[in-house]
Amino acid sequence: MADRYFVDKPVLGEKAILTGAEAHHLLHVMRAKPGAEVLLFDGSGVELLARVETVARSEVELAVLQRREVDRELPCTLTLGVSLPKGERQKWLIEKTVELGLARLVPLVTERTVAQPAGAALTRLRRSVVEASKQCGRNRLMEVGEPQDFLRFVRDAPKASPRWLAHPATGQGSTAATRLASRPTGEVYLAVGPEGGFTAKEVATAMAAGWESIDLGPRVLRVETAALLLVGLVAQG
Ligand code: SAM
Repeated sequence: MADRYFVDKPVLGEKAILTGAEAHHLLHVMRAKPGAEVLLFDGSGVELLARVETVARSEVELAVLQRREVDRELPCTLTLGVSLPKGERQKWLIEKTVELGLARLVPLVTERTVAQPAGAALTRLRRSVVEASKQCGRNRLMEVGEPQDFLRFVRDAPKASPRWLAHPATGQGSTAATRLASRPTGEVYLAVGPEGGFTAKEVATAMAAGWESIDLGPRVLRVETAALLLVGLVAQG
């Protein structure tokens, strides 16, 4: 796959302009000159073949040569609510969930959640989405939502959609293998708890709202491992 660059405004005409980090990468890392051909995407689902026309210090103008819809999304629209781990593990989780095809990630505020990203930290995570999409070939950006209260998240998820909450076995939870065996379409909602786990009250609230508990095996997985396993199981179901 040719080098890919993200244009942060819809590309509707015959020209595209790269600015900021994307222009810097093309100009100063890849040292592109006029005439070089690259792939562009604007998050709308299209992929554009484009040729560098003019370069300035921090801006590149390109001519659009070809425009095509390239769908690398999952058959279902997958939303994951997750109480994010700390530090670099957040960025890692974002990168891997983009690669697996997650449509939307919502940082969850649960009773045992430590602080969730806001402001500049959220902006950095959204930039990680762009970087991961450039690398893996997605033409739609995974949405990273504002942190949301867990109870609101479980109550607002549409009742007609499959809604699965990862929770270590208590004797009642379904095992992942039996529940996630068929490949779902439409909207699917998943939830993964914080390092300290969901409280009994949170699990009871989710069950009362119609969520189903999923057991991911006899080992206690870290947040990011549980999230990737769950997303991966649904993605390949
Ligand atoms: N002691 C905590 C508990 O019992 O819930 C462990 C929490 S675990 C580090 C973080 C989150 O990952 C959990 O809230 C759950 O959503 C998910 N998780 C980890 N291991 C799991 C497993 N074996 N089955 C289902 N979910 C799991």
